[in-house]
Amino acid sequence: MTDLNAQRVAEFRGGFQGEVILPGDSSYDDARKIWNGMIDKRPAMIARCATTADVVRGVKFARDNNLVLAVRGGGHNIAGSALCDDGIVIDLSLMKSAEVDAKARRVTIGAGARLADLDAATQAHGLATPVGINSTTGIAGLTLGGGFGWLSREHGLTVDNLESVEVVTAAGDVVRASADQHADLFWALRGGGGNFGIVTQFEYRLHPVGPELLSGLIVFPYAEAESVLRQYREFARKAPDELTVWVVMRQAPPLPFLPAEMHGREVVVLALLYVGDPATGAALIDPIRQFGTVVGEHVGVQPFAAWQQAFDPLLAPGARNYWKSHNFTALDDGLLDVVIDAVGTLPSPHCEVFIAHLGGAVSRQPADSTAYGQRDAQFVMNVHGRWEQPSEDTGGIAWSRQLFHAAAPFASGGVYVNFMTSEESERVRAAYGENYERLSQVKRQYDPGNLFRSNQNISPA
Ligand SMILES: Cc1cc2nc3c(=O)[nH]c(=O)nc-3n(C[C@H](O)[C@H](O)[C@H](O)COP(=O)(O)OP(=O)(O)OC[C@H]3O[C@@H](n4cnc5c(N)ncnc54)[C@H](O)[C@@H]3O)c2cc1C
Repeated sequence: MTDLNAQRVAEFRGGFQGEVILPGDSSYDDARKIWNGMIDKRPAMIARCATTADVVRGVKFARDNNLVLAVRGGGHNIAGSALCDDGIVIDLSLMKSAEVDAKARRVTIGAGARLADLDAATQAHGLATPVGINSTTGIAGLTLGGGFGWLSREHGLTVDNLESVEVVTAAGDVVRASADQHADLFWALRGGGGNFGIVTQFEYRLHPVGPELLSGLIVFPYAEAESVLRQYREFARKAPDELTVWVVMRQAPPLPFLPAEMHGREVVVLALLYVGDPATGAALIDPIRQFGTVVGEHVGVQPFAAWQQAFDPLLAPGARNYWKSHNFTALDDGLLDVVIDAVGTLPSPHCEVFIAHLGGAVSRQPADSTAYGQRDAQFVMNVHGRWEQPSEDTGGIAWSRQLFHAAAPFASGGVYVNFMTSEESERVRAAYGENYERLSQVKRQYDPGNLFRSNQNISPA
C-alpha cells in the first residue's frame, strides 16, 4: 500500500479546512465504507473537504504526487468508484449547504448533499427538482450521470434542470459552467459523470411540487404477474406525464398493509406518484386495481418528501450489491416472461427487479442536447442482486447475470451509466451512443491526462 511521505501530508494539512483521514486513524474504516458493502478499498488518504479551496488542494496534491484520485459524493455508486486503492479520495460529504431562492425558483447546493437534503430545502417552499427514488443517494453522482425519478416524466432528468455548476478542473482551476460559460464542459457534465472535473456546487431549476401528492403502492400476487404486467405496459404507454408508475418484483417485506401470509412471497408491486391534483390522480389510477387481485394497497395523499424516502428501508447501506441493467423502448412479451421466470428463483430475499417508467419530458429532448443520450428509453430495468453474506456472492451474481443475458435480446442496447458495475467499461460507449465522440473531445480539453478516471471512463480524444 502507498505510504505517503509524512512531510508532504503535513504540508497538505496546513491550510486544509476539512478533515484528513489516514490508514490507522480511528475513523479510517468508517470513512472508507460506502453504500455497496461488497466494496473494500483502502485509500492512502481521505481528504474530507470543507471548501472549494480544499478541493483544489486535493486535486493539486493528487497531481503533484502522481496519486490515483477518486471523488466521493454520496458514496452510492454500485461500481465503488467513490473509492480507490492507495490513492486519494476527495470526499465532499461535508459540503452540503443549500440556499433556495423561492422567487426565482432556484436552489444552489453543495456537492456533498444527499437527495434528502435537497428535498428538505426545496420542499420547505413547495418546490422540487427531479432526482432519484432513494433519499440517501448523493446529488452529485446522480446528477452527473443524468438522474431520474418520480418527477422526470413531468419535469425531465435532473440534468435537464441544471442551471450551472462550480467545477474544479484537472488543472486546479475553479470555473463556473452553464449554458453560456464553458458551454462544452456544461454539456459534458450533464450525463458524462465525473470525467471532467470535481463539481463543488450545483444550481438547479425548481418547480412547484406538492408538498402533498398522491403516491403509494398497489400489490398483486406473483401468480398473476404475466397478466398484471401486460396490462401495466399498456397503461404506462398511455399515462399522462404527471403519472409515473414503476414496477418492483421481489419477495414481499413484512409491511403492515400486507396480509401476513403474503410476507416473504413473491409479489408484483406497482409504485406510483401523480404530480398534480390528487383527485385527478385518484381517478386516473383507479383502473390499476382491475389488473388483478390486489393483495395489499397503500396509496394516499402524503408529503412528497416522505414518498421520496419510501424505498430507503429496502435500499439501506451495507448489504452486498451486484446490479445489472438494460434500457427498453418497449416491454416485449418475451422480456416479461424472462423477468417473471427470474423472480421465481430469487437467490436472496433482498434481490429484486425494478422497472423505472421514463418517457414523457425526458424523451422529448434531442439525444444530443446533453451528454446523457438515452432519451429513447421508455423503461429502465435494474436487476438488484442484493444479499448479506460473502458466501452468497457466487449465487447472487450468477442469478443477476443470467437475467441480464436472457433480457438482452429485448433491450435497446443503451444503458444508464449510473447503474453500471465496475466490470462494464465496454458498455461506456453504448451508454453515450453518438455523444461519445464529443465527450471524448471535451475530455481532451479539460482532462487530457485522465486524472479523473475512477469512474465509467471516457478516454481523452
Ligand atoms: C439505492 C440506490 C438507488 C438509486 N436510485 C436511483 C434513481 O432513482 N435514479 C437515478 O438516476 N439513479 C439512482 N441510483 C444511481 C445513482 O444515481 C448512482 O449510484 C450515483 O452515482 C450516486 O451518486 P453518489 O454521489 O451517491 O455516488 P458516489 O459513489 O459518491 O459517486 C459516484 C461517482 O460520481 C462521480 N462524482 C461524485 N461526486 C462528484 C463530484 N462532486 N464531482 C465530480 N464527480 C463526482 C465520481 O466519478 C464518483 O465515482 C441509485 C443508486 C442506489 C445505490
